[in-house]
Amino acid sequence: MSSAISGDLAKSPATPAAVATVLWAKQALLPSGWATGVTVNFGYDGVVSGVKSETSAPVGALQVALLLPSPANLHSHAFQRAMAGLSERRGPDPRDSFWTWRQLMFRFLDQLTPDDVEAIAAFVQMEMLEAGYATNVEFHYLHHQPGGAPYANLGEMSERIAAAAATTGIGLTLLPVFYQYGGCDKRALGAGQVRFGNDISRFADLVDAAERSLAYLPDDARIGVAPHSLRAVAAEDLARAASLRPDAPLHMHLAEQVAEVEEVLAHRGARPVDWLLGNAEVDRRWCLIHCTQMLENETLSLAATGAVAGLCPITESSLGDGIFDGVRYLGAGGIIGIGSDSNIRISLSEELRTLEYSQRLRDRSRAVLATADKSTGRVLFEAVVQGGAQAAGRPSGVIATGQLADFIALDGNSVHLAGRSGDTALDAWAFAGDDRLVRDVWSAGRHVVREGRHIAHDAITENYIRTVSRLRDA
Ligand code: ZN
Repeated sequence: MSSAISGDLAKSPATPAAVATVLWAKQALLPSGWATGVTVNFGYDGVVSGVKSETSAPVGALQVALLLPSPANLHSHAFQRAMAGLSERRGPDPRDSFWTWRQLMFRFLDQLTPDDVEAIAAFVQMEMLEAGYATNVEFHYLHHQPGGAPYANLGEMSERIAAAAATTGIGLTLLPVFYQYGGCDKRALGAGQVRFGNDISRFADLVDAAERSLAYLPDDARIGVAPHSLRAVAAEDLARAASLRPDAPLHMHLAEQVAEVEEVLAHRGARPVDWLLGNAEVDRRWCLIHCTQMLENETLSLAATGAVAGLCPITESSLGDGIFDGVRYLGAGGIIGIGSDSNIRISLSEELRTLEYSQRLRDRSRAVLATADKSTGRVLFEAVVQGGAQAAGRPSGVIATGQLADFIALDGNSVHLAGRSGDTALDAWAFAGDDRLVRDVWSAGRHVVREGRHIAHDAITENYIRTVSRLRDA
């Protein structure tokens, strides 16, 4: 657990490891549904060894009001958290858009040092944990020095993400990103993109380096690979990137913006989802981020693959991406998960609410994702917990023997939960409450959020404030 990685935060007190724990919950969401009086045991390995029904708490048990499995945050670019608040003005362009935002983001990131990235990542991971996410799936593309030359250690920035995870205790699935070109026409990377760039050979070395950095973390840490997008990766190299870790999570941005769809259509003769499904073996290993620009047939075809649609409702709202067709996708049995992407705001309950409200506004309807026997909050929560685990490559997502102890305990004293239980408690959290309902969080048994705060909250926050105060507005 202790980190030999450089950086200030790695020198701060190490996050406690998982310890043998007996938890007793007044109410818990199990694979079979809601249960009252549940004892859960897990060991130092962070794996659940037993779940049983008991009307009262065993002696020595830690008691909680409402125990839930905790989802992975399946999509994050940690450094973008430090831009929050800097991108809400009109620029010189007649129309502010995703693309003008992206130019600002490219200018902003050019000043970031490895120390900055580690401090920002630790703060982001802390906020994720305090919001209820046990895992950070980091879509990590800021690899090189300003100007594009690699650091002496090719995996320097990957190590900083891992060092942050050592500090926060979050479960990490690290996805080094493969970024080759500035567009579908294979134009060279622009000035703001050169810190991301690799050819396939150096990318293979980078994945090896990133995987080595995980040796400093507990066993639940995972490596994956992430071809950035159809814009940034050549068709012939997508398969090569995917084959670098054939059994690991494979994530890619897909069909986020209209201009992106048009560019892919012009150069590859098909819209992004159509092209991908016709040219790659898309299966449960894949997680396609955004999918806010899909036609009806693409929505149904993608749902049938078993891949995860990685939705980022707050960021997609912030960037004006469009609305994912959740009604049709879930109706077809599609798998979804939630990510915080730009990290402009990290809130699990708000992501769920934003996703549901986007469907209501489009369809002028209510409770659109609820089923006959499960409420909206229940359907959404179970979907994103299970989809998040799949996308993170993590044996998690249900409270069951053999699974990682990735748990949330909600605050039974919250006014929002008064008179609520079962599905209505989840609905109250998603639609009336916020992160303050999250009282405790365990990541693979590591009890890192207690009484609503991360155990290293102050040190991580002070380091973030120092960092962000020094950074220039782009
Ligand atoms: Zn993204």
